[in-house]
Amino acid sequence: MKNKDIINFFNKNITLVILPTEQCNFRCVYCYEKFKNGKMTKDIVNSLKLFLEKRISSLDYLKIIWFGGEPLLAYDIIIDIMEFIKSKTDNGKPKVRGFMVTNGYLLNLEKAKKLAELNVNEFQVTLDGDEDIHDIRRINIGKRGTFKIIWNNIKSSS
Ligand code: SF4
Repeated sequence: MKNKDIINFFNKNITLVILPTEQCNFRCVYCYEKFKNGKMTKDIVNSLKLFLEKRISSLDYLKIIWFGGEPLLAYDIIIDIMEFIKSKTDNGKPKVRGFMVTNGYLLNLEKAKKLAELNVNEFQVTLDGDEDIHDIRRINIGKRGTFKIIWNNIKSSS
């Protein structure tokens, strides 16, 4: 592959990792987060949209990875940005793929359906073993186990 082909490839294929919030509804025993930053501000959302607007028509492929904290605490921002992206795509171009790293606690059927409509249809959810082990390690902010709710969400959304 020649240099200009490589540059062309990177100009046409973008992956963005977006943290819409650093807050989390869990307090996992091994977590390294400081939970300092809240939701992404309106100014940053608008700047991100401006960047997307400038680049999107020249792209073949756009991948968005939602990360946190717990990204679903900023569900409204995710929907806002994914709807914006959808409004800027033209006849399926660029191809958009959305991926989310989530603890799964807030991923109910309604949210999963809405996200899938906007091309966010891959989710990485962590279960730390069986219910007994998971509920020692992955506790919510109120210090309660989370396995049952996550498991029910996975079953109802898949
Ligand atoms: S789900 Fe657990 S590991 Fe992930 S950000 Fe929240 S507290 Fe940290």
